[in-house]
Amino acid sequence: MKNSCGALRASDEEKAVELAGWVNVRRDHGGLIFVDLRDRDGITQVVFAPDRASFSEAERLRHEDVIRVRGSVRRRPAGTENSKLPTGEIEVAVDELEVLNRSAVPPFQVNKDDDVDENLRMQYRYLDLRRGPLQHNLMLRHRIVKAMRDFFDERTFIEIETPMLIKSTPEGARDFLVPSRLHPGSFYALPQSPQLLKQILMIAGFGRYMQITRCMRDEDSRADRQTEFTQLDVELSFCTQEEVIEVMESCMRYVWKAALGVELPAFPRLSHAQAIATYGSDKPDLRFGLELQRVDEVFAQTEFAIFKSVLSADGAIIALRYPGGAALSRRDFDALVETAKQNGAKGMVWVALAPDGVKSSASKFIDESAVAKLREKAQAETGDAILLFADATDAALAVAGKMRNEVAERAGLRDPKTFAFAWITDFPLFEVDEATGKPAPSHHPFTAPADDQWTLLESDPFLMRAQHYDMVLNGYELGSGSIRIHKAEYQRKIFAMLGLSPEQVEDRFGFFLRALDYGAPPHGGMALGIDRIVMVAVGDANIRDVIAFPKNQLMRDVMMDAPSPVPEQLVRDLSLRIAPPKP
Ligand code: ASP
Repeated sequence: MKNSCGALRASDEEKAVELAGWVNVRRDHGGLIFVDLRDRDGITQVVFAPDRASFSEAERLRHEDVIRVRGSVRRRPAGTENSKLPTGEIEVAVDELEVLNRSAVPPFQVNKDDDVDENLRMQYRYLDLRRGPLQHNLMLRHRIVKAMRDFFDERTFIEIETPMLIKSTPEGARDFLVPSRLHPGSFYALPQSPQLLKQILMIAGFGRYMQITRCMRDEDSRADRQTEFTQLDVELSFCTQEEVIEVMESCMRYVWKAALGVELPAFPRLSHAQAIATYGSDKPDLRFGLELQRVDEVFAQTEFAIFKSVLSADGAIIALRYPGGAALSRRDFDALVETAKQNGAKGMVWVALAPDGVKSSASKFIDESAVAKLREKAQAETGDAILLFADATDAALAVAGKMRNEVAERAGLRDPKTFAFAWITDFPLFEVDEATGKPAPSHHPFTAPADDQWTLLESDPFLMRAQHYDMVLNGYELGSGSIRIHKAEYQRKIFAMLGLSPEQVEDRFGFFLRALDYGAPPHGGMALGIDRIVMVAVGDANIRDVIAFPKNQLMRDVMMDAPSPVPEQLVRDLSLRIAPPKP
């Protein structure tokens, strides 16, 4: 029977073994040939001696050839052990070698974790996946997903599959469409999430549902996002927001313990308003403090024109401490101002609390007493800098929030081995749709408002709070959930509020409203992005490095070459015609 390349130890001495795997490295010295044989479990050194028939064959082995060897385990000679390898005390003296397949010369070294152009890695994904870090990531991913399933199974949730070809039920993004051959002119949508189907499963009486499922959103790819992603999707009946939060938090605690051996503390909770005011973000990174401070009153009498005009327009001046920032040169500060501008700032004033005196980009307007007040407010010390952002309140907070992450990164405060989870609650039910100025759901239109707030729907929709909660981790939103509207009458009110005509409502959501009419229980749930969870768990990797076959940043699968044109006949069978490219 084949042994694993990661398992043999000194206690296996003299055992007859069979190993199979890939040639990681071949070294010829002292008349012997050494091969590091690799499989997914690890590396074992195998040795070919010149008096064996296999020797001449071994001389021709090259990187990534696939071989099988039979031989016996022996201790490595004293002084040649490799303490970095779990198998480093032993080697296998080979009696028989079988070359199972040869490999072409790889386009990059599989046995080194060198930086290789990402597109090349993706084109030869099977070689990239042989490398240690990606093997590790996918194995951790397996353990995380398994722990999730175990957790929910213990809590009597059942996994139910929902279809991939569904009706478009928009969740705020663009749908991927699949033309129907049998129904010319009609389209399926690929699910952006199983939202309505899981709600219907509650109406069907399943009570506790979970699914590890793929979701598709036709968005431009972003650094921490893929258009195709995997969600842990959960829904419960007869529950409160508190119960959903308890289940999801316990799940993550269980997963971290089972997959990473880490005990997580209880997750802190922040209201949406608190998160924005304190961190300038609804997904704050809580691995570090650096709380933002509003310092309007320090400048109440200022002659500094920019601050003056912002304050007279009811804007805000936000201060951010930059630990150790006083060491920056003027040039560094200029570059930091540019970074702030790229993050949406109109400008940025800096105050450096250098040991040899205070310096500032607005020293004329920031006197000693202002410095003392700023220092106290921002809890800054000599050696730190204070960055100031002035703008309309929301805009100033948003920029300061982004710069908080930037500063933390530079100050080395974003430790990839620290996991700071948190809950953000009390989101507004609606936000302003930038394009139309009208209300748009902050989460999705199926989210229930806080108890007793229906009366505000007509009069003051923007004041309404939602029973909507997000889980965040190290500055990433892992996912959102909500208590749902379970009465058709109220669901119709929301659709009307969002400007949908009764015909549009019937066309898009008629099936769902009918389902709500047949005894829908109160219910709620949540979905968490598994790719992101794994990405943070492995220590803030690139999201593409935790997915076996990701798309590149142009949304292409460069290994398979997708998307790609198809034979014209296939397009005609779908009753479609490809329009000439736009000029
Ligand atoms: N369906 C939502 C999403 O994918 C999550 C939820 O409300 O359960 O973001």
